[in-house]
Amino acid sequence: MRDSYGREVKYLRVSVTDRCNLRCVYCMPEEGVPLLRHEDVLSFERITLVAEAAARLGFRKIRLTGGEPLARKGFPELVSMLAALPGIEKLAMTTNGTLLAPVAAELKARGLDSVNVSLDTLDPERYAALTRGGRLADAMAGVDAALAAGLPVKLNAVALEDALPGEHAALRAYAASVGADIQFIARYDLAEEKRDGGDYERPPKCGTCDRLRLLADGSLRPCLHGEVAVAVDWNDIEGSIREAVSLKPARGLTCTGLAVGQIGG
Ligand code: SF4
Repeated sequence: MRDSYGREVKYLRVSVTDRCNLRCVYCMPEEGVPLLRHEDVLSFERITLVAEAAARLGFRKIRLTGGEPLARKGFPELVSMLAALPGIEKLAMTTNGTLLAPVAAELKARGLDSVNVSLDTLDPERYAALTRGGRLADAMAGVDAALAAGLPVKLNAVALEDALPGEHAALRAYAASVGADIQFIARYDLAEEKRDGGDYERPPKCGTCDRLRLLADGSLRPCLHGEVAVAVDWNDIEGSIREAVSLKPARGLTCTGLAVGQIGG
């Protein structure tokens, strides 16, 4: 479907949880964010209902995000439910990779098409500092397991101001050595006006924005850098999607009050 600027919106990003096992410094505050109550988190059935309606309206790609999607109990079951939907051509996931190794083969078997793994450094101490306690070895084991399972992997590397000398080149070399793609993401702050990616592949340019977001609380977000949220009307899901798409702005401004981890980037 097209928005009021003629952009074709065909990509649904679904934040399946606001929980995460890491605390990345550019994503959320050290103390974390106020978490949704369990009963306020969308069920797999309701996520699937929204995805199904989106597919009827011409959406063709779904990306599962979080928080950390693998932190959601029973996540592989959701992959099966979404992979079975007619019209969805690509089902992808963005993860920090630290919980991926044990389930990669199962996710592939259930219909996941590809994974993006967040990896900003190959230095274990720096990784632990950036993620406030994560283990680099776990993320790299996740990458290895996904590739071994036949899942295409793309590394998401945030281009941090304090990057170590040669860090980007080392990440590119690592990606090439394991057979993964890599993209660099300009660091952004939701509270600051959106700037397109500049020299980096991401964030995407607003002029060709093709995405809509479904959050774990059941709201649709026309824009990452925006305050607008449309609560899904469970009696008229297509109507809610149409409304959210019609509210997409020409370009992103600011989003206050939510951390990236609550929207799913
Ligand atoms: S800031 Fe908003 S309009 Fe721009 S690319 Fe992101 S979601 Fe699309």
